[in-house]
Amino acid sequence: RKNVSKIPTGGEEFDELLDGGIETQTITELYGEYGSGKTQIAHQLAVNVQLPEEEGGLDSSAIYIDTENSFRPERIKQMAEGVGIDEEEALDNIFVARAYNSNHQMLLVEKAQELAKEQEEEEEGKQVKLLVIDSLTSHFRAEYVGRGALAERQQKLNKHLHEAIKFTNLFNAAALVTNQVQSNPDAFFGDPTRPIGGNILGHMATFRLYLRKSKGEKRIARLVDSPCLPEGEGVFTINKEGIRD
Ligand code: ATP
Ligand code: MG
Repeated sequence: RKNVSKIPTGGEEFDELLDGGIETQTITELYGEYGSGKTQIAHQLAVNVQLPEEEGGLDSSAIYIDTENSFRPERIKQMAEGVGIDEEEALDNIFVARAYNSNHQMLLVEKAQELAKEQEEEEEGKQVKLLVIDSLTSHFRAEYVGRGALAERQQKLNKHLHEAIKFTNLFNAAALVTNQVQSNPDAFFGDPTRPIGGNILGHMATFRLYLRKSKGEKRIARLVDSPCLPEGEGVFTINKEGIRD
């Protein structure tokens, strides 16, 4: 893999855990329970990817596939202010698409390739270096219910992730996907802290981060199964300005 770059999260300890941030040509999976910070981190990375290279960014834009209607322009503005970039410009550099169901979501990743290609050809537009899918699994989980649907769900998710990997390779971009943990302890996998999607997702998400709440605004990120970095934990906080130490 050549020319890999990183997008910083905004938390120093968090970035140390990731040796600088999330990587291009790679899928990073954030999993954790509700309120653990998955969507906040996704917003922050969509802002940070825009930062000039001197400030650790990639001077690029982001595509944000939103499946739970949790994208908040106001939040982007706060975070843009937090890193000192123009709020309206920050919003203009995030292409948000709402996915209405899992098929639509899959289609949007293909459309994302077209959009990123257009941005590449356009002189003024910033190149797309981040693809967010928040959440990767919510539609799949709602639509493919029960053991009988599990195989098909995994097959579709598999295909979906392959498209995302293709995107990261074509554009030297990072992909960030979010995933809830099994909230039902009697669910398929038995372990309530296991992410939805089981093994197939595990093989394809190169970096997996398990997020959990700690005291107050504190959160803990644990790096799980990384191919090249040591396992470990980092503390971060969610503030008005965004993700910080
Ligand atoms: P879900 O699984 O429900 O999608 P999530 O992991 O995506 O959850 P987030 O939406 O990222 O969770 O995190 C929500 C938390 O972020 C809130 O509970 C709050 O603690 C914090 N938060 C959100 N906005 C702000 C803000 N402006 N200032 C400070 N903290 C905030
Ligand atoms: Mg969320």
